[in-house]
Amino acid sequence: MRASTDLAELELSELEAALQARGVQPFHARQIFRWLYKRGVTDLDRMTDIGRSLRETLRSDFTITTPLVTGDERSTDGTRKFLLELADRRRVEAVFIPDTPSMTFCISTQVGCAMSCGFCLTGKMGLVRNLTAGEIVGQVRVLTAATGMLEHPFNIVLMGMGEPLHNYDNTMKALRILNSEHGFAMSPRRITLSTVGIVPALERLAREPLMPNLAVSLHATTDEQRTALVPPNSKYPLAAVLDACRKFPLKKRSRITFEYVLLDRINDTPDDARRLVKLLAGIKSKVNLIPLNPAPGIPYQRPSDARVDRFAQILADRHMTVSVRKSRGRDIRAACGQLIVEGGSKKSAAQQMALLVGPSPSLGTGH
Ligand code: SAH
Repeated sequence: MRASTDLAELELSELEAALQARGVQPFHARQIFRWLYKRGVTDLDRMTDIGRSLRETLRSDFTITTPLVTGDERSTDGTRKFLLELADRRRVEAVFIPDTPSMTFCISTQVGCAMSCGFCLTGKMGLVRNLTAGEIVGQVRVLTAATGMLEHPFNIVLMGMGEPLHNYDNTMKALRILNSEHGFAMSPRRITLSTVGIVPALERLAREPLMPNLAVSLHATTDEQRTALVPPNSKYPLAAVLDACRKFPLKKRSRITFEYVLLDRINDTPDDARRLVKLLAGIKSKVNLIPLNPAPGIPYQRPSDARVDRFAQILADRHMTVSVRKSRGRDIRAACGQLIVEGGSKKSAAQQMALLVGPSPSLGTGH
């Protein structure tokens, strides 16, 4: 028996080729895309503009894999956290955040994460595995259906579990599938990729035809402190990350977002704020301050509103665009850095870092 191909893993061009190889007209690929993504239909029998014999071929040669919703928690603020089970029973979380001001899906790119940021629960899991492109897009298929958003515009932030640039190829393939005019037809301007700043991958991203908005998790203003909070900084220090940002080709009016988690009395002093202003000089930027979402096992505190305001004011006084991220869904642990699924990998932190700095193809220079 021939192993069946997962339709949900294919870009339009790949599906066209797969159909052609079976003697099927490639335009059927566009029909299938419309059913799968525009209408959210995975049952071949409901794809009524596709003839019966072609449906038989599809059924015998292809499968369509969709993440299974095994949990759906609602926050008092309308945020919904979905627990999704994948084909190998691994689980990831994806979050629907309404009215921010538009509708936003926060999507995962890995099961767990290898970056080990000191204030992030997902980092405590270690990396279990990369998500496939189909699993990344599958979260969007499931969430649009579950929230009734299929007909509405929505944004995507790659800020769920995982480091998207540590799973570069699958993330980019997912963006191409999301962008297909016969599928979700998502403009890359509605998608934000958030990264710790893996420099070779940032340089590669700078040359992509399909470029999402970029958010960089800075979180500290000295290498010593950043390495302590965001361990990949030992390999890609501040100067290198910011240099890659300076070279990043920005569209008209667009800016790079710098995320800065505020940890009480650690990185939230006026000196930190002033250093941040200096570091970002000459970069078209906006700063998004994220007061820590505390969690058991995280050895930091959330600063008082007064400290957050003082930090923000120092930036604003120096003409920086600054916003404070309102945390959403904290009562259901759906807020930033609170996504974790029990039963993570047993790998040690050292092994995780070896994964990060080792010769992983997703960290390649792309030349
Ligand atoms: N790996 C990507 C996406 C991470 S999640 C990245 O590092 O950018 C998105 C943001 O939430 C990141 O800036 C991350 O550092 C931040 N974050 C992680 N844990 C947090 C916590 N406990 N409280 C507030 N923000 C947190």
